[in-house]
Amino acid sequence: MRGVQGQQQRFERQAKGPFLPTEILHTRVLIVGAGPVGLALAAELGWRGVACSIIEQSDGVIHHPRATAVNARSMEFFRRWGVADLVREAGTPPNFPHTVLFVTSLQGFEIARIERPGHGGTRPTETSPERPQRCNQLWLDPILRDLASGFSCVTLRYRWRFESFIEEQDGVLATVRDLASDDVRTIAAEYLVDCSGGHSAIREFLGIAMMGTPDIDYHLSIFVRAPELWKHHDKGKAALIHFIAAQGPRRNLVLLDGRELWRFGVTGKEFYDDPERADANRLFDEVAGAATPREIISIRRWSARDVVADKYRVGRVFLAGDAAHLNHPDGGFGLNTGIGDVADLGWKLSAVLEGWGGAHLLDSYASERRPVGVRNVRQAEENLQIKKRRPTEPAIADDTAEGAEARSRMREAILRDSLRNYVTDGTALGYCYDPSPICWDDGSPPVADTITEYRPSSRPGSRAPHAWLADGRSTLDLFGRGFTLLRVGDDPPAPDSIAAAFARRVPLSIEQIREPLVRSIYERRLVLVRPDGHVAWRSNDLPDDPLALADRVRGAA
Ligand SMILES: Cc1cc2nc3c(=O)[nH]c(=O)nc-3n(C[C@H](O)[C@H](O)[C@H](O)COP(=O)(O)OP(=O)(O)OC[C@H]3O[C@@H](n4cnc5c(N)ncnc54)[C@H](O)[C@@H]3O)c2cc1C
Repeated sequence: MRGVQGQQQRFERQAKGPFLPTEILHTRVLIVGAGPVGLALAAELGWRGVACSIIEQSDGVIHHPRATAVNARSMEFFRRWGVADLVREAGTPPNFPHTVLFVTSLQGFEIARIERPGHGGTRPTETSPERPQRCNQLWLDPILRDLASGFSCVTLRYRWRFESFIEEQDGVLATVRDLASDDVRTIAAEYLVDCSGGHSAIREFLGIAMMGTPDIDYHLSIFVRAPELWKHHDKGKAALIHFIAAQGPRRNLVLLDGRELWRFGVTGKEFYDDPERADANRLFDEVAGAATPREIISIRRWSARDVVADKYRVGRVFLAGDAAHLNHPDGGFGLNTGIGDVADLGWKLSAVLEGWGGAHLLDSYASERRPVGVRNVRQAEENLQIKKRRPTEPAIADDTAEGAEARSRMREAILRDSLRNYVTDGTALGYCYDPSPICWDDGSPPVADTITEYRPSSRPGSRAPHAWLADGRSTLDLFGRGFTLLRVGDDPPAPDSIAAAFARRVPLSIEQIREPLVRSIYERRLVLVRPDGHVAWRSNDLPDDPLALADRVRGAA
């Protein structure tokens, strides 16, 4: 950074009104927004020992539920940060079935059900040491907050609002307001990360457009307490219940705590336009029956958009999470995509701030993560279109032969085309940074990008696959703060030339793995894994030019 004095003079020239800053607060990375994505970035940076500040305009108390579905990839990052157990325990109890149920109403007819044996609980799947979990932000955000604020290099300030910034050659100066005192302050940082959500003013200020389908759907979200709801109907326990009426699938119930808390979703512009007039109890009666005990806790409205920012970076400012991409919640991608963003950005910021990241490393954030944002948003949009295209016959809820036939046709359609909404292992684990400026393309053909099923691959750009090691660890437990060179099998080449090339500046650990399963999954005798657990390079032989490899993967080539 330039001298503090220079910065202060510059800011004072810009500041207007009575709020002249008295001191400049310094940090290396300023994160705006302490939603799950900002908190996860602070945790990732804190875990790497990078000084950062995170400011949040609210008091941080989550009053109303949003995301619940946490995919296996996010769980893997939580595992790395040591909070996977907390997330598992805070969410839906391990023995609660993650069943998706389609009914006319809880007192009416069952249409279809999708079981998800690979979700929830503690038993790992074959493809990950972690399973997808259900942990609403009511509990997830506080876990991430405690994690982030537990690092001494992280400063977390609630009720501080970001107002504006200027960028200088070697940093940004942000103007923020302490909402408790109404004081205006300046924070000087080397980088600014916008995690301020879908209505980001930073994105707007930078003139970054959101590309895609704006305002596709309008909803009410009703937070309900309905203790042991399953005792008041005959359909059994389910984590997600969709109600299909003659007008189509316009209501759903999302299980939150496995005991009594639910998010009741109601689609319709008429409700969105006038939430005050929505009779939540009557709407709940229609799906659950008037005799079902319930208490309406809170009501919010929200609209769904399927859009992606056309830039993820402008100068020293990066966009992550909902600030960068927004999607319809069908599929459960928003928060999970955001966690993936910051796992990618975190190590790159850290590498540059530590001095070993090359000049192009930070550019690779956008080239790697924006295509993932586009892919996931497109998938959510397709899910919605499939649902909308599925015709609902007027007799669907009738207790007649015609009604039974309509339900049977609906059941067939749901089972044919809906699994992709609820089982997304391929989406969660199978994304590949291809092409990537910091991975070494080995010319192997791409692995098909699938939705429901994940196909392990060590192709450069892929998430390095999971396999259990003899000592009970997952291969994923080997990856972390620096690069990891896996020497796979009994006779991999000696790694000396790679170690020497990396020793110049790039942190590298070397692991010898002999387990036969790892050999078959990893496909090569040498596999170089990045700090975020993605494969950077692989080969059966030593690289011709180890220095060129080191420079490529650290973004200096
Ligand atoms: C009904 C619903 C269900 C969903 N279900 C799922 C799901 O199952 N799985 C999933 O992955 N995703 C789901 N999502 C999406 C998920 O909730 C979001 O993707 C996620 O919350 C985004 O996190 P974020 O941190 O990027 O943004 P946000 O959670 O929006 O956080 C942004 C924060 O920035 C703060 N902020 C804004 N401006 C400023 C400022 N100027 N100064 C300081 N602070 C500021 C805000 O107060 C806010 O706290 C769902 C969304 C909805 C609406």
